[in-house]
This record gives sequence, C-alpha cells and structure tokens, in this order.
Amino acid sequence: MATAHEGDGALGDVIDPELPASTYVLEPEIVAPLVRRVVTSHGAGTHRSELPFTGAPLAAVPLSSPQDVVGATRAARAAQHDWAALPLRERARVLDRLGVLVLERQSEILDLIQMESGKSRRNAFEEVADIAQTCRHFVRRAERYLADRREPGALSVLTGVRVHRRPVGVVGIIAPWNFPLTLALSETVPALLAGNAVVLKPDPQTTLSALWASELLAEAGLPDDLFAVVAGGVDIGAELVDHVDHVAFTGSTETGRKIAARAGERLIGATLELGGKNPLYVAADADLDRAVPGVLRACFTNAGQLCMSSERLVLHERIAERFLERFVPAVRALTLGTGLDYTADVGSLVSADQLERVAGHVDDALAKGARALVGAVHRSDVGPYFYAPTVLDDVPDDAACRHEETFGPVVAVTRVGGDDEAVRVMNDTHFGLHASIWSTDVARARRLAARVETGTVVVNDGYLHAWGSAAAPMGGMKASGLGRRHGREAIEAVTETQSVVAQRGHGLGISVDALYELGGDVPSRVLTGALRAMRRLRMP
Ligand code: NAD
Repeated sequence: MATAHEGDGALGDVIDPELPASTYVLEPEIVAPLVRRVVTSHGAGTHRSELPFTGAPLAAVPLSSPQDVVGATRAARAAQHDWAALPLRERARVLDRLGVLVLERQSEILDLIQMESGKSRRNAFEEVADIAQTCRHFVRRAERYLADRREPGALSVLTGVRVHRRPVGVVGIIAPWNFPLTLALSETVPALLAGNAVVLKPDPQTTLSALWASELLAEAGLPDDLFAVVAGGVDIGAELVDHVDHVAFTGSTETGRKIAARAGERLIGATLELGGKNPLYVAADADLDRAVPGVLRACFTNAGQLCMSSERLVLHERIAERFLERFVPAVRALTLGTGLDYTADVGSLVSADQLERVAGHVDDALAKGARALVGAVHRSDVGPYFYAPTVLDDVPDDAACRHEETFGPVVAVTRVGGDDEAVRVMNDTHFGLHASIWSTDVARARRLAARVETGTVVVNDGYLHAWGSAAAPMGGMKASGLGRRHGREAIEAVTETQSVVAQRGHGLGISVDALYELGGDVPSRVLTGALRAMRRLRMP
C-alpha cells in the first residue's frame, strides 16, 4: 500500500481542498478513474473516507446532489428501453463476462474492499466468489425465470392465457458498508438480466468498491447509463427512492421502515433486507469436531458485521461444557490483523461508531452481571477499531445485546434442556433473518427448521451454504425484512407480470358473445353446465 502523492491539476475536483493530497492513503492514480464514474455535477462537496485499519484518510469522493440523482435516473430510464429490447442472450453475455472479470481482477478489488471496510482478505474473497457465483447462476437460469407461461383461462379451451414478465424500469439499490462488492452487485445482476437499469447508492465509506463494480460492468460491455452510482448519505438515498420504480434496500430495520413507508406512498415495490439476531443451536448429537470451527466462522466472519452472523449461541446442556472447553480457546486463538494478505482471521470493525456500538453492548451486559468467557477488550494495539472476538455467558434479559443486534464479534451463550426449548429460545426475538442448527441427524434438524421463524435455516454450517446457494431465496421474516434476494424471487421482485388473455372461439361461433345473443336464461344455464363439467373434470 503506497502513500498518495500530489495530484496533478486534472485531479483537482476529486481532492479534498482541506487536506493536502499526500494525506490520503490511496494514490490519486487509483482513485481518479474510479471517482470519475460518480454521477455528480461537483457542487455537493466531497466525502472523506477512512482506512479502518489505521484511521488515516483513505480517499476523497465527490458527492452527488439531489439534481444528480434526478439526472442519473432519467438517463437510466432512457437507456433501459433499448436494453430491455435486446434478446436475453445478449444481456446474459454481459453478465457472464462480469463473472469472469471479477475473478480475473480480484486482487484489485480485494485491496479496495479491505481498505474501505477493514475486513480480512479471506472475508473479502467471499464477496468476489459470491459475485462470480451470482453471475453464473442468473446467466444460466434467467431464461427459465423470465419465460412466458401458459395458464388455464376462464373457459378452458375458449380462453388462452399467457403471462409475460416485464422489467419494472429503473431499480434503485441502497446499500450499507459491510459487503461493499456483494451488495453493489448481487441484486444488480438479476435486475440487469431482467431488462432493467440500476442506480446504486452505496454507503459513503465504501463508494470506491461500488465504482469499481461500475468500471467492471463497463468493461464487460454494459452500455452507458444502465448502471449508475450516486454518492451520498441519507438525503441522496431518500431522493433515489423518489425516482425509481423499485427499491432494493439492505441496512438497518429502522431505515428499512422509512424506505418502506416512502415506497408505499409512491406505490413502488420494495425489497428490504434488514437486521437480525440470529440463533445458532448446537444439539446434543452434534459432531463437535465440525461444530467448533463452523461456529467460529458463523460468529466472527467479517468481525460479526454480517447480517447472517450468529449472535446467540444456544447449546444443549448435555454438550454445552464440552463445546465451550474447545470453543473458547479457539476463539482466543483467532488472529487479528491489518495485512492486505491472507494472514489474519479477523479484521477491524469499520468505524469509531461501530466500535462504540459493540463495546457499548459488551460493557452494558457485563455491568448487568454477564461474564466474558473470552474477549471483551478493545484491541487498539492492532488498530483503532479492532475488537476482540467475544463470548458472553449469563447475559441477563435486560442487557441490550440480549435482543438488539450488536453487529460485531460478540456472541452470547444460552443453555437449553432439549429441542423444544431450543426452538422457543430461537424464536424469542422480533427478528427473523437466519438460523443455524448443528446435528448429526439432518432429518431431525430439518424438522426443527420447520419450526424456526427465519427466512433461511442452515444445517451444519454457519451461513456460507445458505448465502452461496444463489438459487435459494434469502431474506427475512418478522422485523428482518420484506421480499427475498437470490433465485426466482430476485427476478420476480424487479419484474411485473402482464397477463395477455385471448378469447379463441369466435371462428367456431362459440364465443361468449354468441352465447349471450341466445338471450333469456340460456347463457346462465349453459354456463352453469359448463362450470359443473369443469369441476367434475378437475380442471384448474
Ligand atoms: P443504515 O440503515 O443506517 O444504512 C444503510 C444504507 O441506507 C446507507 O447507504 C445509508 O446511507 C442509507 N440510508 C440511511 N437512511 C436512509 C434513508 N432515510 N433513506 C434512504 N437511504 C438511507 O444501515 P448501516 O448501519 O449502514 O448497516 C448496518 C445494518 O445493515 C445492520 O443493521 C445490518 O443488519 C443490516 N444489514 C442487513 C443485511 C441483510 O442482508 N439482511 C446485510 C447487510 C447489512
């Protein structure tokens, strides 16, 4: 990683005037081509992002104004018509190429993701793999998901029904900072394949990764204006909701409610992937050799800043002490680090705010009587926002971390006497995003899963197989969201159905018009007979 040096005159509009260029960690040569992709008229100032590993200024990104959002959505709408008119295989060619390019150029984006979010390289790679997987799945399945379908009509052979899927138009995506590449592209890929344009508003801290995604889409052959990035915070996100035809939001439940309310006023669709307080149950018959490393990943991937992260560890009392005897030392052995390489297990929290939230939850629980089995310390020796992976026991019910999402490397232990109690504990939350069950009896785990109120349940894994199954709908019940990403549901969210229904009998003289011309009660008697016959013939 090199320190930035003085920018030349051409870069003047991307350099924060309050800081000399040499202050930034990222070189202007890396930043300039990316920030040129922001839709901005350069009147809204700049955002200074930070390198979470050290707290140093990372880059200055020009912001978009509300008028820029209007311009971006107008240009996207204009471009969308021609894009939707292309044969699907031509749109698919672009997205297929995107999946190839993201693997080829992974070292660039791995650096950027790590520098913007502070995560470890292994966790950054999961984003690269996710996008390659998403592209492959949707490119292969789009034809099936978008295919017209025939349905039975009002009067069987006399009515022909075809249902078509049409793109909604412009999809607005509003993303948080925790998965800068995944959340820029995972809903973009199905939206573009379905014939939509996309305008993305990333979190201000992770805009460069989103801009890199924009560069990659252009290299893959996406025509201009079909994918635009607007930069800014709450006001720009809110403005975007006012101009798009569907909004796909990932973030907190609090913000999700506001976006849903505005989408409701505008009568546009909204898919909302919100917070979670995800339980992970280790049943009495779990294979602890597999469970210990699996639960480590479930709780501490991305330093716990993962919507599917497990924050509640529900242990069957028969294995609880044996599990903890192995789990706690394994947590203590996790390595924290700042390297742009694969040496560290766990990276940094993203910001001072996030550190305050995580430390606040732990301190509150300890003050109310909880015990820390490991962790519970700010690791400022590694970097300003590092927090030690933490396991809490005896967390009282009035502690904030009992019910609120911590979104950090903190998990609280609860012991249960059996599966029924485990289900009750797992469901004791207003969230319903994700759950994990560990048992050697997969059939039993599936039966338990059917009683858990979450959008996904994974058996003998933390989250990877659930997220990585691009065909499996993923999203939240209860306060964890509305709608689903992945699979057929992702395409359905950004398309509208149109039913084209044709009356066929005219040529044969057996149309509804001909029937009604018979007058009196004849049409009713004929139709009564037809309806009875259709029921007897079990017609749908
Ligand atoms: P946040 O809700 O504060 O912000 C998310 C995004 O929304 C940001 O881009 C922000 O600028 C924008 N935004 C904020 N207020 C807005 C408004 N009124 N109108 C339009 N846009 C607005 O969330 P955060 O703190 O940045 O992210 C962490 C949260 O995201 C956690 O609660 C986590 O659970 C959730 N999350 C969920 C998933 C999932 O798939 N379910 C994935 C990742 C993160």
